[in-house]
Amino acid sequence: MGAQRRERLKALREAALRRPVLARHLSDGFNGRWSGRQWVQAGLFATLGMMIAAIVPGFSQSTASVRVHEPRQSLALALPPLPIARVRGEHGDSWQLVRINRGETLGSVFKDLDIPASTMHKILEQPGAKEALKRMKPGTELGFDMPVNGSLRTFRYDRDDSHRIELSLAGDKITQKIITRPTESRTVVLSGKVGKSLFRSARKVGLTPANINTLTDDIFKYDIDFNEDVGAEDRFSVVVEQTWREGELLSTGPVLAATFTSEGRLHTGFRFERGGKAEYFTGDGRPLKKSFIRMPIPYARLTSGFGSRRHPVLGRIRMHTGVDYGAGTGTPIMAAGDARVQFVGWKGGYGRAVILDHGRGYTTLYGHMSNFGRIRPGQHVGQGTVIGYVGSSGLATGPHLHYEFRINGVHRNPLSVTMPPPEPLSGMALAQFRTQTGVALARIRQVENIIYADAGPAPAAAPAKTAAKKKTTKA
Ligand SMILES: [Zn+2]
Repeated sequence: MGAQRRERLKALREAALRRPVLARHLSDGFNGRWSGRQWVQAGLFATLGMMIAAIVPGFSQSTASVRVHEPRQSLALALPPLPIARVRGEHGDSWQLVRINRGETLGSVFKDLDIPASTMHKILEQPGAKEALKRMKPGTELGFDMPVNGSLRTFRYDRDDSHRIELSLAGDKITQKIITRPTESRTVVLSGKVGKSLFRSARKVGLTPANINTLTDDIFKYDIDFNEDVGAEDRFSVVVEQTWREGELLSTGPVLAATFTSEGRLHTGFRFERGGKAEYFTGDGRPLKKSFIRMPIPYARLTSGFGSRRHPVLGRIRMHTGVDYGAGTGTPIMAAGDARVQFVGWKGGYGRAVILDHGRGYTTLYGHMSNFGRIRPGQHVGQGTVIGYVGSSGLATGPHLHYEFRINGVHRNPLSVTMPPPEPLSGMALAQFRTQTGVALARIRQVENIIYADAGPAPAAAPAKTAAKKKTTKA
């Protein structure tokens, strides 16, 4: 008797923990092994488990006023009706919601629920179904209406944020119903103090990890050293567009405008589309991105400078027309600036090499690669795109990157050459930019005045510190 009960408890626990196991036990249940009461318990456990999984991520995405971890919040919600109807073999609420886990496919879910593959194929033949169901992201929700004594009656999925598809199955016939769920876009200002961790505070007010990367790597990287300069009282305000549906935050778009107030100095950055491409600019319309990054590989060691030297392989005194960076084989190499790919292939002593044309007479060359990135000649690549990997192909004694910088065909030292300033906005674009930034800044000020007692009048924009902060050996 006791052993039997332990067995049942174990089964219940499994049912609550793992949905596929639950599906199996559900079909076992019909073999008469469980009473109706135990059935309901199994159903309740499983439903609770799924509700928490469904609610908690929603909370963590929600706005600042909601604390992230409060399991009681999810218990307070009304549970969906228990599938008693299924037990008794009556018509009623027989919906099962399934959340896709990593690695699960439509096929595996159908198998877990004992729905024949032929039914799945019929569903996939419906217009638009394949596109939506073939590659589902983890967290995607599917609905199955399965009466006790029958096969799948209705199948439900979301084609996109605002369209839910309901497929009713009757014999060989499938009827499709499209339910429109209106979404709403809201432009919001999310603001917070750095506190112990910028990342944590920014997440708490609703910024996405991608938003935070934009702040630290694209907008403020040149003016603020996030490892050193930032204090707990420093504050950030960010304008983003959020998409909401029925009171639920669905997604957050890119950073549209951002301010960072550090020791009373205001730093700003604004997103603006130039020639169809989004870039970030300072308040006066200068691009925040430099036209070239100094080092095309992260954390590399300069092993050989520019100029005359005895060639390590050939042994002759020869002009070294570039600089060498020692790094492990396979270290990614990045495009130093936006460019068109001019050459990808083997080039004599350079081994596997890539040449990029940056326009205005500037080209860069990267040699001795072990492998190329996914690039083709003629293709446009953005600054930072991985174009290849460090190696020792060609005339090289060990794995390193040989990097050349040419202006109008003349080799220059990439460590000391004056990089061309990126082109600022002008004319119509600048006028349009000014209007946009004015509105964004006003909204940020408004929000900061409400949140922070010490916000006061707008501090003067800090002068760009970029010139003083070059991390290079020579000016
Ligand atoms: Zn070299």
